[in-house]
Amino acid sequence: MISAKIGPISITTIRENGVEYIVDWFDQHKQSFYTLGWSYISNQQQMEELFYRSIIKIHKELPRFKSETSFETWVTSIFIHTCRELSDDRSLQASEESEPRQDLFKALDQLKEYEKEAVVLTYIKGISQEDTAHLLQVSVEKMKEHLFSGIQSLRKGMGYGSRFNGCKEYHKNYIDYLERTLDRSKKVDFEVHIYHCQNCQEDLAAFQDVMLKTIELDASRGYPQTFEYAGSTISIDKVEIGQPTNIVISNHEIENRAYESLQFNIVGEDENETSSMEMNSEGVLVDKNGIKYDMNENPGSYEEIEQPRYFFSVLNIGLQSNNAGEKVIPKRMEVYGYNTTKYLDDVVKISLE
Ligand SMILES: [Zn+2]
Repeated sequence: MISAKIGPISITTIRENGVEYIVDWFDQHKQSFYTLGWSYISNQQQMEELFYRSIIKIHKELPRFKSETSFETWVTSIFIHTCRELSDDRSLQASEESEPRQDLFKALDQLKEYEKEAVVLTYIKGISQEDTAHLLQVSVEKMKEHLFSGIQSLRKGMGYGSRFNGCKEYHKNYIDYLERTLDRSKKVDFEVHIYHCQNCQEDLAAFQDVMLKTIELDASRGYPQTFEYAGSTISIDKVEIGQPTNIVISNHEIENRAYESLQFNIVGEDENETSSMEMNSEGVLVDKNGIKYDMNENPGSYEEIEQPRYFFSVLNIGLQSNNAGEKVIPKRMEVYGYNTTKYLDDVVKISLE
């Protein structure tokens, strides 16, 4: 999802202030561009070259920017073009040492380039399917096929086995279903089907596991920082290094949110998943009609609520190191999925976990 829309006035500002403004703009958006960059290239020198070349090109091409696309989409298209250029340049690859790859990028390296681009733009950069299709210059249908085969290959790499056993005619529904963009009639039909079909249930769960997102955490930058995930905005309100290290994450948007809670790991500076994590959450109970209940005001209400779903709104995380006396310095958060409860009718409850 693209949130940064730049209007005609600020484009004038860019033209007047030039390169400096573009550098500032990248600085504010760097985390998702870093992730995008790392999926193509393998060392820090190339990364610097990538940002350098992109900034120069953006500055040069600026007179051709048309405001019918968002500035971020336009910048992303130039950035990807530069990524391809650098990753195709064998002389650059051969002359420099590659740095150890994170598991995420190792998995992405196994994909075909068009699959990788579809997956990275949609799930890591968080761009809508329409904009991704536009950027990759393919139809939305074609883009979804690439996304599907990309997720299928990632799933294989993550040890789920190589193929989907669910019913083929429903394959194309998975992505839209999980993104909550499936037409209502198709959605009902699909939900009725998966209730009876274990293979489709397993496929969907595996598919969901693969839709992951990496968020760089850098305590030296200001908070809050926000990012898009599954169609809604999550805020990292605070990262405070200490004993324990405290992280506060919030998402107060309850309506139209695809998930109730997130599944994630926090990876520390030493590249280990942090040793112990304690969590406290605040949240809202919502019934089948969308009415919200405050658990703090009426703690006994859970049983009385029809088809309750509990949505987290604030998450307080405490991280302790295994080594006594050491503080955990969190480096990144890996969101690898989410939990949601589906009620098909008044009697049946299934959880897509
Ligand atoms: Zn099925």
